[in-house]
Amino acid sequence: MQQVKTIAQMQELSKQWHFCGDKVAVIPTMGALHEGHLSLIRLAKKYAQKIIVTIFVNPTQFGEGEDLDAYPRPLKEDMHLCDLEGADAVFTPSAQEMYPQGSSTWVDETQVGLGLCGAKRLGHFRGVTTIVTKLFLAVLPDCAIFGEKDFQQLAVIRRMVRDLNFPVEVIGAPLIREEDGLAMSSRNRYLSNEERSNALSLSKSLNYALEEIKNKPSITPEILKGEMHEMIESSGGQVDYIEFLNAESLQELDGFMNAGEIRVLVAAKFGPARLIDNMGLTLG
Ligand code: AMP
Repeated sequence: MQQVKTIAQMQELSKQWHFCGDKVAVIPTMGALHEGHLSLIRLAKKYAQKIIVTIFVNPTQFGEGEDLDAYPRPLKEDMHLCDLEGADAVFTPSAQEMYPQGSSTWVDETQVGLGLCGAKRLGHFRGVTTIVTKLFLAVLPDCAIFGEKDFQQLAVIRRMVRDLNFPVEVIGAPLIREEDGLAMSSRNRYLSNEERSNALSLSKSLNYALEEIKNKPSITPEILKGEMHEMIESSGGQVDYIEFLNAESLQELDGFMNAGEIRVLVAAKFGPARLIDNMGLTLG
């Protein structure tokens, strides 16, 4: 497995692979890799012969007072995991390489990214769409794998790729959980044992809501939001948002009868970690 640090080398390698007839998949990450990330590598192998994992803690998607400096960067361990999983290259550019001095161009999706994390983390998705564009132009992939863990991010990127006609197939991958239900996240490393156990209220409240909807489709999102809020806050979490959306349009639902594909998304803080989670259900 190769480590590539510059955009020029990355483009060259990708062009060579394409010249040999290989398809190239990219998996953008911020490192501190776990099983969730590794599942994306496994999925990528179904779509491409060459797999590139990018590891870059992107400063422009962090807001003021967020965890940019604290974000874990275990690069050696990450490289080892990528190698074991069979990635062909890891792209690890510096911040200077991705944002040379004087960079003044942004890519901004202006609809799908407005609510939820976009509303709570101003400028976050502008940072995401800009870096994903730059990574696509460095890696020149045929396809890109993103996890449904970041459900809104996946929707924002799908929209960007559609609107800007990127010749890249975007593939969504299922959210991977720990055995006890906690959604895997690099930020779980911030949690104490107690906070980790409290954070299980996220998946528990999501499961509860889906069961309620299945059994009583006439129940309202407002009632369920209140119940989920109570479950999370009584476990020491601070809720950022709880939303019931149509999974395709990301439009807020005011009821569940004939709602089609439903996604429940939640974000909450436990101690130093802001965690997100989501689950889906299809109703006829
Ligand atoms: P991150 O390193 O957190 O920016 O995530 C990089 C990619 O891995 C994104 O596409 C995430 O959605 C995906 N990812 C992170 N955690 C998980 C998980 N638990 N299950 C599936 N995909 C994940």
